[in-house]
Amino acid sequence: MRKKGFIGFVGRWSWLLIVAFLVLGWKHPIIGSLALVCMIAPAIVAAWKGGRVWCGAVCPRGSFNDNILSKISRSVEIPSIFKSIWFRVLFFIFLIYNFVSGVIKANGDLVKIGFVFYKIIFLTTAITILFGIIFNERTWCSFCPMGSLSALITKIKRKLNERPKRIRVDQEKCVNCKICEKECPIGLTPYDFANNNDKDLDCLHCEECVYACPVNALERK
Ligand code: SF4
Ligand code: SF4
Repeated sequence: MRKKGFIGFVGRWSWLLIVAFLVLGWKHPIIGSLALVCMIAPAIVAAWKGGRVWCGAVCPRGSFNDNILSKISRSVEIPSIFKSIWFRVLFFIFLIYNFVSGVIKANGDLVKIGFVFYKIIFLTTAITILFGIIFNERTWCSFCPMGSLSALITKIKRKLNERPKRIRVDQEKCVNCKICEKECPIGLTPYDFANNNDKDLDCLHCEECVYACPVNALERK
């Protein structure tokens, strides 16, 4: 995260929130329900701004991945299965089913409801760390249900002819070196964004590719 100012500060430090959540929630599961904020916010921001801006700039787990996990990750390519539509849809259904059935079974008991959220955040953090070490620090983000929902909302916004900000490539300037692809934490191909409008739906708007391009062919506009 090279962004400056307040957003840059949030991106560098919001990982502390997920650490605090996991430590405090172990003793006080009632605080688990706070996870709802991080589950709803990416979709609201996507509906407002378009794109996975929350995932790239604010999300505590994303910040953890960028600032902590990246230091111990093997940083190899994210397996394509995690990016496939069917895997993402199945995982989305699986996770939402677990949330909803857990909350229904809790029968209005706030501590039990909090524990449902805590348990799922705990397990998904374990998956994040495991895959983050084996593959790439942002592997979780390639199939995170809330990230997938944000990408879908962005697609709908475009269908409605809204023009949210996005990374654009000037193909006259591009020398096809593909450095931007190597720098992209989620394995996108910014040099190709102009040819296919939907290749950037998972863009985190982190602008790493913009900084990395040696001929300034990329811009967020
Ligand atoms: S880094 Fe810049 S010049 Fe290289 S492929 Fe990407 S957009 Fe093109
Ligand atoms: S395409 Fe660029 S801005 Fe988007 S996630 Fe990749 S590096 Fe970040």
